[in-house]
Amino acid sequence: MDFAEQVKTSVDIVDVVGQYVRLRKMGTRHVGLCPFHTEKTPSFGVNGVHQFYKCFGCGAGGDVFKFVMEIEGLTFYEALKSLAERYGIPVPKRAEYSDPETKLRAALYQMHEIARDLFRAALRSPQGAEARAYIAKRGLAQATVDEFELGYSEPSGQLLARRFEKEGFPAEQMEASGLVLKRQEGSGFFDRFRGRLIFPIHDEQGKIIAFGGRALAAGQDPKYLNSSDSPIYHKKRVLFNLNRAKEAVRKSGRAVLVEGYMDAIGVWSAGVKEVVASCGTALVSDQVRALRRHAERVVVNFDPDQAGVNAAERSIQLLLEESMRVRVLELEGGHDPDEYVKVNGAEAYRACVEKAPGYFLWLADRARARFDMRSAEGRMAGLQFLQPAIHLVNDKLERAAIAEEVATYLQIDRGLVLDSFRKAAAERREKTLPPVKEAPRPLERILLNSLLTSEEARRECLPRLKSAPALERLVSRGILQALIAAHESGGACGYAEIEARLPESDRDLMASLVLADKPEDEEYSLGRALDCLEQLDLAGREVRRAALKARIKEAERAGMLEEALRMMEELGRLERA
Ligand SMILES: [Zn+2]
Repeated sequence: MDFAEQVKTSVDIVDVVGQYVRLRKMGTRHVGLCPFHTEKTPSFGVNGVHQFYKCFGCGAGGDVFKFVMEIEGLTFYEALKSLAERYGIPVPKRAEYSDPETKLRAALYQMHEIARDLFRAALRSPQGAEARAYIAKRGLAQATVDEFELGYSEPSGQLLARRFEKEGFPAEQMEASGLVLKRQEGSGFFDRFRGRLIFPIHDEQGKIIAFGGRALAAGQDPKYLNSSDSPIYHKKRVLFNLNRAKEAVRKSGRAVLVEGYMDAIGVWSAGVKEVVASCGTALVSDQVRALRRHAERVVVNFDPDQAGVNAAERSIQLLLEESMRVRVLELEGGHDPDEYVKVNGAEAYRACVEKAPGYFLWLADRARARFDMRSAEGRMAGLQFLQPAIHLVNDKLERAAIAEEVATYLQIDRGLVLDSFRKAAAERREKTLPPVKEAPRPLERILLNSLLTSEEARRECLPRLKSAPALERLVSRGILQALIAAHESGGACGYAEIEARLPESDRDLMASLVLADKPEDEEYSLGRALDCLEQLDLAGREVRRAALKARIKEAERAGMLEEALRMMEELGRLERA
């Protein structure tokens, strides 16, 4: 067995996908919200028996390798290696398990680890005094500094460049790392980060893929400098601290979203372990999706200044678009999260997180600040202001509850609020009606699944199926013909092998037949396949009978009596059979 096959048979796709997506068991399949597109009701299914996933919304689908490649943005070899490592399968040290892209990325990971070690050593060195002073001022404990592997990039700009050259990394790799920059004049490189406090940024699996650097000197610009995108770092997909927070986020079903590195670190060390931050940039939908894979509730706790409030408003819209349930935490005294924890303690902060109000009340407060709620016009303008958010609430009960809350809060007639909810819902329904597909009869589901599941069933039934006249009339004939061809040529007849032989439309059909609900007591087996064949034979005879009758009539009308007689005899034989 080759190594990829060995890995594939040792891991369970339900378990692997479950590390990224919250799945619910429904009969023989697991369903959840698709991680590859935005949706409000689950059209993403995983099948443990045949080890595949499929989304009927966006068409994403494949085996466990494809899933890890897509969700982590990895090459095939990296996905293979990552899975093998996760499940304790020894990886053979052979070059064939690598390709140029994988090699480049392996070098980049290595450079980032070297950089982290150099930055950490620099923080402890005499040169790091300024950075240590800043850390002390922010009240970070040594344990926290160690846990987050904070570092210091000294101002000379030579630390990494020299080391990478010494280690023999080629110029292309150095350039691709984004950690060093090419000199405009002359040859060689210099460090991107100079004179900054360094925050390592990890991917979800805990590998260092980038750094954020905070300015230490007054007037040093920009205040925050981030790694640029590289083959291992896509800024728009990464949330700071998600690698540490994801367990707690899953457990509590909730994440706390803050703005900056220091906020995330402060809140984390106060014992609120569900905290993540957008990496010093405005939140984008890929980041929200990364979060939503682990929880559907989020508490947004941004800085209280105007920039923070604006960022919160934009972020809320995005979070709602991705169907997150949003609460907004505004801390008293105009504190940002980190300061609040310092001044009031972890316990007080946790209490605030627990009782953070729903986003509608927060938005209603924005409306109040903006419009004159004493006048009827002002109240209507306030309601208008809430419209875009109202449009995004999908759940009927939730809508009713929010309408009640908002109406009371803004002193608007409850009917008016509900009315705008209803209109929004109707518009949405019009937009999102799914395309109707021809649904095959249960017989086709049972037949295909039995044939995929049982070797015995394939041996017994496929030769008969091949000559069955009713085969032509089945919606799933393309799939069954592929099964027949694979079986005849002595090839493997697993889900993946058959799927590989199919055009796109039949792939979707096959996935839907395999993922379809089945009655609890129904089994896919040789016996069931034989029952199906029996029914097909009956149906086939019915088809032939009808065709014969029609031809007899035609022959009689044309005066071809001999011909008609011959066919009537045939019909008689058919009916006796
Ligand atoms: Zn999808």
